[in-house]
Amino acid sequence: MEKEYHYDIVVVGGGPAGSSSAFQAAKNGMKVALLEKENSIAETVRTSGVTWIKNIKEYEIPDDCFNPIKNYSFCSPNNQVTISDSIPQAAVLDVRKTYRWLAKQAENLGVDVFVKTNVKDVIKNTDGDIVGVIANSTEGIAKFFGKIMIDASGFGSVVSKSMGFVTQWKRFGAGAEYEVKAENVDPETWWLMVGQKYSPAGYAWIFPISKEVVRIGVGVGKPDSEIDPTERLKELMESKEGPIKNLGKITPIEFHYGLIPNDGLSRKTIYNNLILVGDTAGQANPLVLEGIRYAIKFGRVAGDVASKAIKSGKTNEENLFPYEDHWKKEIEAKIKSAGKVQDRWIGLSDEQWDKELDIIKELKAEEFLDFIKADFGLSNMLKLATHHPKLAVRQLFGLVKGIGK
Ligand SMILES: Cc1cc2nc3c(=O)[nH]c(=O)nc-3n(C[C@H](O)[C@H](O)[C@H](O)COP(=O)(O)OP(=O)(O)OC[C@H]3O[C@@H](n4cnc5c(N)ncnc54)[C@H](O)[C@@H]3O)c2cc1C
Repeated sequence: MEKEYHYDIVVVGGGPAGSSSAFQAAKNGMKVALLEKENSIAETVRTSGVTWIKNIKEYEIPDDCFNPIKNYSFCSPNNQVTISDSIPQAAVLDVRKTYRWLAKQAENLGVDVFVKTNVKDVIKNTDGDIVGVIANSTEGIAKFFGKIMIDASGFGSVVSKSMGFVTQWKRFGAGAEYEVKAENVDPETWWLMVGQKYSPAGYAWIFPISKEVVRIGVGVGKPDSEIDPTERLKELMESKEGPIKNLGKITPIEFHYGLIPNDGLSRKTIYNNLILVGDTAGQANPLVLEGIRYAIKFGRVAGDVASKAIKSGKTNEENLFPYEDHWKKEIEAKIKSAGKVQDRWIGLSDEQWDKELDIIKELKAEEFLDFIKADFGLSNMLKLATHHPKLAVRQLFGLVKGIGK
């Protein structure tokens, strides 16, 4: 039996971008459907979940959803640095709990959440504009009609692809991770591990989520490297490479795998009756490929702009422009600068990485965090690029601001 539903807004994908879009739209009085293909929200975890306490507080994510971090350790084959802060500014999320909390916030405002609802195709009007989506659900084929659709389906971007607006991402990161119980965990310290043995085009990590549990992972840039991150992760865990050996006995709990776009701002994110958000829009900090805070933030902007457009009676591309304008103004420059640093990092040999860590040692916690977050505050970076006593530091930050080589 074919079922038909009618909503103001149909959001495809129950990740942070989708739940946040739905939440804001419902808050603005819209009738919203949130469609998720899995059996439950965040059934599969595809992310390491590092984010920032400032954003967590801004979004009012509950305290039991994250583990605070205040020591940032970096190691290369022959060098190591730990930058310690007086208070935690980073955090590792309990991803499942956080994503479910985000969806629940939307549901509490009246959003209808449909799980086991796998969107397969789009419905167009005679002008070729999208007016709905078709999904396989437990009840058979279901048609969801909306005045605006929000594509928050992540890397796969199912709606935008079905419309013929986008093709598969060409440049992306592939990451594999084990959540493990470990003997010796320092719950306040994360590790980033760089150099050929960890990842030839990317990095490996240890992110603690409690006093006993950490996530150990490997991310590899594609197509820059052909290395399979899962294989590399297994090798690193078996040989207990670098700081992994300090964890003592390791017992795997759960395996995570995911893909994240790294194609810069190559996509247009608004069309008649359609908004692209989160990973579908390529909204991630390319330096460390973190996108959760942007997915939530711009999800809310998408929900807001969509509801205002519906209230105005005009849902064409022109009326959705404030969404694209907003997010581009906020992160376009940062993403471009971060891309330059990423290009530099991808080309570094082990010896060069050892030297890069000497540069990182020069940074105060605040500067390090701004840098890794690609929150390149103009004054700060210009100061480092022009006044730092070491030439190597000036060069790195000059690159960020486009004033160096
Ligand atoms: C290995 C790895 C590690 C990462 N680590 C971090 C990190 O530490 N910090 C950070 O901030 N970011 C990290 N990221 C990036 C982060 O996970 C993403 O930027 C973020 O999840 C984007 O959210 P989203 O809602 O756009 O997409 P997603 O989280 O991918 O959500 C998309 C949702 O859509 C659903 N869906 C897909 N297709 C359909 C369909 N056809 N029908 C219905 N539903 C569908 C999916 O099941 C999913 O629930 C990492 C990514 C990877 C791959």
